[in-house]
Formats: sequence, C-alpha cells, structure tokens
Amino acid sequence: MTSASHLFYQTRLRRPLVDRAEGIYLYDRNGKKVIDGSSGAMVANIGHGNRHVIEAMKAQLERVSFAYRLHFENEPAEELARRAAGYMPDGMDKVFFVSGGSEAVESCLKLARQYAVAVGQGSRWKVISRFPSYHGSTLGALAVTGYAALTDPFTPMMQEMPKIVAPTAYLDRDNFSMEERGIRYADKLEEKIIEEGPESVLAFIMEPIGGASTGALVAPDSYYPRIRDICDRHSILLIHDEVMSGAGRTGKFLGGDHWNCQPDLIALSKGFGAGYSPLGAMIAPSRLVQPVLDAGGFMHGYTYAGNPLACAAGLAVLDEIERLGLVENAAVMGELLKAELVKLSERFPFIGDVRGKGLLLAAEFVVDRQTMKPLPKELNAFQRVVDIAYDKGLIIYSRRTRGGIEGDHFLVCPPMIITPEEIGEVVSILDDTLLQLA
Ligand code: PLP
Repeated sequence: MTSASHLFYQTRLRRPLVDRAEGIYLYDRNGKKVIDGSSGAMVANIGHGNRHVIEAMKAQLERVSFAYRLHFENEPAEELARRAAGYMPDGMDKVFFVSGGSEAVESCLKLARQYAVAVGQGSRWKVISRFPSYHGSTLGALAVTGYAALTDPFTPMMQEMPKIVAPTAYLDRDNFSMEERGIRYADKLEEKIIEEGPESVLAFIMEPIGGASTGALVAPDSYYPRIRDICDRHSILLIHDEVMSGAGRTGKFLGGDHWNCQPDLIALSKGFGAGYSPLGAMIAPSRLVQPVLDAGGFMHGYTYAGNPLACAAGLAVLDEIERLGLVENAAVMGELLKAELVKLSERFPFIGDVRGKGLLLAAEFVVDRQTMKPLPKELNAFQRVVDIAYDKGLIIYSRRTRGGIEGDHFLVCPPMIITPEEIGEVVSILDDTLLQLA
C-alpha cells in the first residue's frame, strides 16, 4: 500500500494487504502465512473461512440481505434473539441488536437513562466506570472509557464520567489477602457513589474480565458479589461490557459467568459475529425494557440493526460454537496456553505477570520481577514485540497502559478452535520473539 492510498485509520502505520484466511491462519498478498494469535481484535473466535457460516450467509443473501426493521420483522433476528437470550443470566430475556461494541455500550447507557426517567428517577444520569478501561470510541462510550490518550482530545465535547481505579493484580504490595483486596477494590465504587451523590448515579459499567486496556485483568473473586451488593444498595444499574470477554472467549459464554454474575445490562459484540458480520447486542431484562416502551419507546436505534444477513451470520456462529464445543475448548486450550505462558515467564524475567481466563490471556512486561517496575516507555516494547512476532509468523495484540502506572502488555487470544499442536506453534514463535526482544 503506498502513501497515495485514500484510506486512513488511527496512525500512519500501514500493514500488509491481506489475501485470504483459513482456520487460525491469515495469508498476506506476498504469500506470508501468519497465525491469528489475537483473533484480530479478539473477534475471529471461531476461526476464519468457516464453511457453515459462509453457506448460511450465502443462503440468506439469496433470500433477503436487508429489510428495514420499521417495515419488516425477520426470522434470523427473531431466532438469534431467542438463542442469545438462552445464554444469558436469569431474566435477561430482551435482545437489542447493533453492529458493534461501541453501539452496544451506547445502547446500554441510553436504555439505563431512559429507564431511570421512565420510573421517576430522572436525577440519575452519572455512569461510573473504571480506570483503565475501554468501552468504545463513540462519544457516549468514550465518556465512560478510562484511557486518557483516547479521551483527552474530546473532553470539551462530552460529559466525562466519574472513574474508579480498576483492581490491579500484582502491583499492590500490601499485607491483604486477595479476598480482602477484592472487597477493598469494590468499596472504592461505594466511596465514589457517595462522593458523587447516590441520587445522581445511574449506573456502573465494567468489563468482567479486562480487555486490551488492562491486559486481561481479572479481579479477585470477592470483588464481583460485592459490586452487585453495592449497586443494589444504591439502586444503581450494573452494566457488564462483555464485548471482548463474551461469546465464549474466557471459557464460559460470558466472562461474568465465572462468578454467576447477575448484571442489569450486558453489551455483547466481537465474537458474537466472529468477524463474519458486524454484529453486537444489548441484552436487558423485561423489567427495564417494559417501562421504557410503555413510556413512549426507546429513543435509540441504528439503521443496520437486526438486519437479516448479520443475524444469519450470528446464528451460524452460535451453531458452530455449540457443534464444535468451542466454549469448552476455550477453557481447556486456555489452561494449556496459560501454563505455557507461565513457563515462558520463568525463562524471561521481564515477564512480570501472566493473567486472564480461557483464551483471553495476557503477559505484562516489567524491568524485573523483584521491583515489578514497568519497562521504560522509550524501549517501545509493546510495539516491538508485535513487529518481531509478525515477522516470525504470529499476530499478537499489545498496549501500553495500566492502572495508575504505565506499562506494556501483550495479549495472546487465538481463535477458540485452536488445537494443542497449534498452541505449540504459537508458543514456539513467542519463545523466539521474546528471545529477540530480550
Ligand atoms: N468494549 C470493549 C470491552 C471493547 O474491547 C471494545 C473494542 O475493543 C469495545 C467496547 C468497542 O467495540 P467496537 O470497536 O466494536 O465499537
């Protein structure tokens, strides 16, 4: 791609042209084969080129690819809503389709607000979120995102929402047990609610298992029920952003399922369409939806929402997740890959922490494990590790940022179809990559 291209994305950085993809592999135009070790941006969960999905999409295209929802209902949307609701916690029985993660989060924020207005709680509008966190790029989703580099340019254009510090795994050097830490992290939410004025707080949004912004950070077990309890005591809605952690990636269908969480709203995307179609959803209980509909309707919606082609893709993706037992495979392969990453961390002391669940895994770089200090920014480790791995035939995903301090981490999140042999390939390339990085 030359600089004469009319296309642009976030940075000046340009990547090779992709040619084709199959299973866990992508091929560029020069014939180079690379393992999709991050499933793109944790999207291609069922792998590339899945025949069942392709055939289902073709068949839908032949029938009808688009019929506007204000003119027609369509079967794929109806059926996908029914199937998706079956994976949700009790009572989460209403599904609102969107085309991506930011739209799913926006929808949660807006339904929460309209619900509050509908039930006479119009004073509630603030949405507390965590730092660091990522909830999307549109102004509403950005307002609840804890990632200064992304939010700063837009602060004057949006009402930035209050943040609490997300639980940190190893950085806290104190005498508290993990159990106690979970409670203490959660209690920061209550402190913030009180500081803001409980009557003004509408919702709390969190990724049950952190994504790219934290590097697959998992809170202590005690954190999750405590958060639910705090939200209940202050009548605050709990929104789980499962955009990255959902659709089976962590070894359960939802990240929150590891703790039997009962959020009030769920945002889903990425692995839900698995890269075959832009697709996402907000899932809500009738008790929140009905008052909004009764009060005149949900003042929100997207042109492409619930279109038959996207929903046919989503249905076929769910078929494959079930037929191939991919949620279970993500759990088993995740254990295997994590154990291998831990072994790598024993060989490379600049890996300070390996964390995550299922196939949402990350490793964090530090100067050494004694100090746990992050690598200096100038080393640009997060970019170098990605470039070296790509040269050697592996795509990984990396970021520099972390709660309270700066740090580099990389995520290894291959498609959920991965086999033990393919994990061996991933680990061997990672080993070479880290050797070169050292
Ligand atoms: N929420 C989370 C947790 C995400 O990881 C992302 C994307 O990375 C989003 C929301 C936004 O999704 P999208 O980029 O599809 O709008």
